[in-house]
Amino acid sequence: MPEPDRAAERRAAGLCTSCGSEPHVPGRTRCERCLEDARERARERRERAARGGLCEACMRRRRAAGRGNRCAACADRYLARQLDREREKRRADHD
Ligand SMILES: [Zn+2]
Ligand SMILES: [Zn+2]
Repeated sequence: MPEPDRAAERRAAGLCTSCGSEPHVPGRTRCERCLEDARERARERRERAARGGLCEACMRRRRAAGRGNRCAACADRYLARQLDREREKRRADHD
């Protein structure tokens, strides 16, 4: 289970928030090895989702036609987040 306090302590100490034993990569919160692990897990997850025709985000519902690799619910959630982020970015650019 993730422990936010421990992660914050590790980040403050310049260590990987995942394993806590390696320095984290500059600009990231994890070390090279943990980033690689995460990439590998994400790839396996994508492949499993693709085999079952399931949504990559929730791994439970079927993918919706025309919504990429996500079901309609997750695609909508993702889109809303994207739009929020773009709005934030535009605001930041204008300041
Ligand atoms: Zn690590
Ligand atoms: Zn989904």
